Amino acid sequence: MPELPEAEVVARQLRVALIGASLTDWWIGRRDIVREGITSLPWYRGSLLVNVERFGKSVVLQFVKDDMTRYVVAELGMTGLLLFPSARTKHPQHVHVRMTFVGGRESELRYWNPRRFGRMSLLDRAGLDRYLARRFGRDPLTVSKEEFSKIVRHRRGRLKSLLMHQQVIAGIGNIYANEILFRVGLHPNAIACRLAAAKVDRLYLVMKEVLEEAIASGGSSVRDFFAPDGTEGQYKRRHLVYGKEGQPCPAGCGQLLRRLQSERSSFFCPFCQSRRPRKAERLRGAGHAL
Ligand SMILES: [Zn+2]
Repeated sequence: MPELPEAEVVARQLRVALIGASLTDWWIGRRDIVREGITSLPWYRGSLLVNVERFGKSVVLQFVKDDMTRYVVAELGMTGLLLFPSARTKHPQHVHVRMTFVGGRESELRYWNPRRFGRMSLLDRAGLDRYLARRFGRDPLTVSKEEFSKIVRHRRGRLKSLLMHQQVIAGIGNIYANEILFRVGLHPNAIACRLAAAKVDRLYLVMKEVLEEAIASGGSSVRDFFAPDGTEGQYKRRHLVYGKEGQPCPAGCGQLLRRLQSERSSFFCPFCQSRRPRKAERLRGAGHAL
């Protein structure tokens, strides 16, 4: 948390509020927040923000000055937030960066992160390309059905781990992986390469649907996510399984949702997401559930 939908919400708000604004000043409270490129900091003063993009769970700001282009990458994975001054933070001591702008709708952008070391990078184009190639696989919102099927068909690991493997598919974390798998009726530990082609197609569609609906709802505010303007995402209200172990399955099958502890918690219905699909499909065909 934040995952792809939250990072996308951040990028969209930044675009509206700050594209076309000039960066006039830059305060960095701790130099170790910058992983790479700290010596280029003076260059950014007087540069123009021309674009904001999202890659996986990171937001990339593009600046130009004197025919040169440079980038600021802010990692939002787990705990990072980008905030306008109007957004109140519970722990202002974790604001490590303040960028001052003129000519936009907002006068300042703050980077808040309780985990400090190396969460921001100041890069030129070649540096950004290296950064992206190292960290990010295909984007779930733009990957084609054919590419996605190929990725799934070739992985022998567990499906949920694959969905969360940033170097393969970038942006999905634990919350959305659980929500997507429930909606497709697939067990988190299902083996990716053994899925039937029709299931992979359905997974592809549902993955996009869930992420797009979450973006439209402003993301999910779980723990400490706020959009830059301080608003909370509303998608949490539409979570069906995440954090709901012990509650009745929302598909009405009569089972209670379970929690499976591996590297991250999985929340699932033992019936609707059975690893023995034939049994579940047969019962479903007879008029039970879904
Ligand atoms: Zn169920």
